Amino acid sequence: VTPPLAWRVGQGYDIHRLAPNLPFWLGGVLLDSPVGCVAYSDGDVLLHALIDALLGACALGDIGDHFPPNNPQYKAMRSSIMLAHVLEYVTQAGYAPQQIDCTIVLEAPKLGPYKTIIKNTLIQLLGLSVDRVNVKAKTAEGLGAIGTQQAVAASVSVVLMAVGT
Ligand SMILES: [Zn+2]
Repeated sequence: VTPPLAWRVGQGYDIHRLAPNLPFWLGGVLLDSPVGCVAYSDGDVLLHALIDALLGACALGDIGDHFPPNNPQYKAMRSSIMLAHVLEYVTQAGYAPQQIDCTIVLEAPKLGPYKTIIKNTLIQLLGLSVDRVNVKAKTAEGLGAIGTQQAVAASVSVVLMAVGT
């Protein structure tokens, strides 16, 4: 048996298709946008990537293991609720998130006006201070499915520290 880790690192990635007249949730924030994510839940790619990063850091599998798609229990479920469950698993594993770094890849709408709102929402959801959360936004330079506004993707890295005992 290997000794318990003082620190753990996780990374997560997610992508969703975009379609007209759907809500566009990103990092727990509702964007003003003519398109939104096609998804069984609320389709929040950033929170889904964060959830996968947290699960990965704790060696607890992935979001599909814990919230299987096509289970009516999770239809249209807010990702912030899923995140709250996963933060509970992290606590039970004996760890606490210390830092996250996020990258969102989206062509439109432009995320400039939303970056601070998304960052502040993540700070609240995770209970972290302002110097522990970073949100980066970029476009796909017009290339591929994201560049032609058919999809949005996000990746998140997270660092956990062992707490208690
Ligand atoms: Zn997703």
